[in-house]
Amino acid sequence: MDDDFIEEMFSGFCKNFNETRTVICEFVKRDGQIRLESAGCAYGKCPHSKTCILMEQAREMETP
Ligand code: SF4
Repeated sequence: MDDDFIEEMFSGFCKNFNETRTVICEFVKRDGQIRLESAGCAYGKCPHSKTCILMEQAREMETP
């Protein structure tokens, strides 16, 4: 079965760039699980990735 792709935008304060911004995130729905595939920011590379409140919204979209 084909994967479903979901695109969502999240806004908030980005500590890495010290500004309010909107980040477009792409999720994939596969076998009933939703996973974050990519984010239009430095998520995963920037030092605030784990504590980022903006990206917390994206993490909450994922299946636990
Ligand atoms: S993960 Fe880093 S680059 Fe992405 S929004 Fe958060 S602070 Fe900014």
